[in-house]
Amino acid sequence: MTDTSSGLAALEARLAKDLSLLELPSKSWVPPREHDGQRVRDVIFVGAGMCGLAGAARLKLSGVDNVLLYDAAPKGLEGPWDTFARMKTLRSPKTLAGPCLGLPALTFRAWFEAQWGDAAFDELDKIPKGMWMDYLRWYRDALDLPVVNETRVTSVTDAGDDLIAVVLEDAGGRRTEYCRHLVLATGRSGLGGGAVPGFLQKTDRRFWAHSADEIDFAALKGKRVIVIGAGASAMDNAATALEAGAGSVDMLIRRKDMPRVNKMTGISSQGVVHGIRALPDAWKFRFNDYVNSQQVPPPRSSTLRVTRHPNARTFLGCPVEDVTEAGDHIVVKTPHAAFEADFIIAATGFRNDFTGRPEFASFAGQIKTWKDGVYQPSMGRAVPFMVDAPYLGDSYEFLEKEPGSCPMLARIHCFNDAAMLSHGKLSGDIPAISAGADRLMRGIVQELFTADAVIHYAGLQAYNTPELQGDEWVDATPSLMETAK
Ligand SMILES: Cc1cc2nc3c(=O)[nH]c(=O)nc-3n(C[C@H](O)[C@H](O)[C@H](O)COP(=O)(O)OP(=O)(O)OC[C@H]3O[C@@H](n4cnc5c(N)ncnc54)[C@H](O)[C@@H]3O)c2cc1C
Repeated sequence: MTDTSSGLAALEARLAKDLSLLELPSKSWVPPREHDGQRVRDVIFVGAGMCGLAGAARLKLSGVDNVLLYDAAPKGLEGPWDTFARMKTLRSPKTLAGPCLGLPALTFRAWFEAQWGDAAFDELDKIPKGMWMDYLRWYRDALDLPVVNETRVTSVTDAGDDLIAVVLEDAGGRRTEYCRHLVLATGRSGLGGGAVPGFLQKTDRRFWAHSADEIDFAALKGKRVIVIGAGASAMDNAATALEAGAGSVDMLIRRKDMPRVNKMTGISSQGVVHGIRALPDAWKFRFNDYVNSQQVPPPRSSTLRVTRHPNARTFLGCPVEDVTEAGDHIVVKTPHAAFEADFIIAATGFRNDFTGRPEFASFAGQIKTWKDGVYQPSMGRAVPFMVDAPYLGDSYEFLEKEPGSCPMLARIHCFNDAAMLSHGKLSGDIPAISAGADRLMRGIVQELFTADAVIHYAGLQAYNTPELQGDEWVDATPSLMETAK
């Protein structure tokens, strides 16, 4: 095995030098606060996946360093990459700067080349998903980000005094911490969980799983598997089942044709990154509605990974109408035929309706969504995923459905996929995550500063370190008076 540690050590030295050239991290500047005998955290992140890490890093560079990230997952297993992501490689191109925050030494490319060289980078096709996770593990360590793993946030309430009480559970039990701002960096399933069609909700759990669930693929050996959906996850789950020896995999796809063009990638630009937020709501909705209606195709490699198996079949224009249990198997009804199967994988996406997340129950009902007076039928179709999405402020903060009903929402930032309709794709995917982290940081920094204006003003008045000693000049005014006499 190649020893890559010296390359990484050199990269870390380069990163340290770059940071020192830029005078980063900036000096710590937020006045400390206490509540209930505890140090109040300036910011707590729920989730330490890519978005949590990038957001916390951006704050740290800006001198907001009293920050903690909590993640329910064990160390190094945050997010989908080494858990329920079943693709071989990322869809994203290897050259994306990703969460580097403008620092070249923090890019995936720098990390890769430091270990395996420039030629190997040229030869690399797409980034293997496990390698991307390794890079995120390094990113966290290189920036010394304070992540506490195996700790779940189970409840969030208003503690008064502009503070938020965050209940945490780990192996040691339950405790409460207080923070001024809370960032929900909870990922794709972060607000609502998996979208499960009604015909599955009434079906016994032993017959189906959502594509983001843990699935025992070995148990599917020799079995008849049905995958619902035509997106990337549908293909990756179907391929994994086939590779694990499934007897057959039938893909049931509602659309009459596969989506072929990745529309949003086609117009990606800094204009889109920074401009979507400034669009009128009707235009924001229109862009999203169009992308949703066109749908994102699965990657070609994932599709071929399925269709090269002779026991895989693709059925287009074949929506599932019902599922019934028949002893040890199920029958899946479609307009064209009834399929007998042993197991269904629902690659049916995620939802935004908050009901699947008990930890947010205390405030979920108070959040203003697009359907609370923003969405108009003239904007496009009332797709649940979109009209249920939160209608967010400039730094991803929630707004209140009823003004004054839940003031803490102004300090809870929805830095996950659910922000897409309000902000564009800045808080989920790799391409614009640094811009997203920057937007989050600016809002939180402004809020932290303005909330403490009295303290900062007192600091301004109290500061008395002289630059001049008083011996550098002589006041000539008295001599003018002498002359005037
Ligand atoms: C299968 C798959 C493949 C993808 N491939 C690509 C790709 O190729 N290119 C691209 O740009 N994007 C891709 N994405 C989209 C995006 O980049 C990823 O979803 C990415 O992981 C988003 O990072 P995140 O930090 O928002 O969420 P995540 O990485 O999902 O992290 C969220 C974290 O929050 C934690 N958490 C949630 N609730 C709690 C709680 N109550 N208490 C404590 N911790 C909690 C979870 O444990 C998790 O670790 C993919 C997404 C998926 C699902």
